[in-house]
Amino acid sequence: NSKVTILGIPFDNMTRKEFLKALYERLNTGQKTFLVTANPEIVMYARDNPDYYQLLMQADFIAPDGIGIVKASHALGTPIKERVPGFELMLGLLEIADLEKKNVYFIGAEEEIIELTISEVKKKWPDIKIAGYHHGYFNHADPEMIKKVKKTEPDMIFVAFGFPRQEKWISNYLSQVDHGIAVGVGGSFDVLSG
Ligand code: UDP
Repeated sequence: NSKVTILGIPFDNMTRKEFLKALYERLNTGQKTFLVTANPEIVMYARDNPDYYQLLMQADFIAPDGIGIVKASHALGTPIKERVPGFELMLGLLEIADLEKKNVYFIGAEEEIIELTISEVKKKWPDIKIAGYHHGYFNHADPEMIKKVKKTEPDMIFVAFGFPRQEKWISNYLSQVDHGIAVGVGGSFDVLSG
C-alpha cells in the first residue's frame, strides 16, 4: 500500500473499497487501529501545530478526505486514486459491524444528536452491538470516559468532537487498549441523525 505525502502528511493511496478491505482485515486480526480522515483544514492545521502533526504520525491509516487533497496530489505529480470521505468510511465500517455483529461505541456531538444517531444506527444496522454511547460535551481530559469505554471492549469507536479534539482523545485512548478501530468522524453524527 503506497503513500502520497502532501505537506508532510503521508496519505494512504487506496480507494474507498481498499480502505474498507484493509480495515476489515485489521478488525479480524484484532490489531488496534487509528484511522484519520484528513481534509485540507487538518493538513493546514497540522502544518502549524507540531503536537497535532506528531499525533497524526501515530495513525495507522490516513485517508484523503476532500477533493482539495486529490487536486494537490495531482499538482504534485503523485496522484491519489480517489477522494475518500470520512462519512463514507464510517458508513462502510457500520456495514461491516452489522454483518459481523461487532461491538461499537459512539461518542460525541450534542446529547440530542447522539440519541438520534443511536436510533438511526438501530434502524439501519440492527445487528450492530451498541457497546455504549455518550455526547461529546464533557471534559475530554477526564480519564473516566476512557475507562468506561475500555470496559466495553469495543471493536470500533467513532469519536465526533471535531478536529483536533477527537484525534487527541483517540491517541490517549488507544495508548491504553489493545484492540479496536478508532476514528474521528467530525460532524458525521449530525449528518447521520438527519
Ligand atoms: N463536538 C463535541 N464536543 C465538543 C465540540 C464539538 O462533541 O467539545 C461535536 C459537535 O457537536 C459536532 C462535531 O463535534 O457534532 C463537530 O463539531 P464542529 O463542527 O465544531 O467541528 P468541525 O467539524 O469543524 O471539526
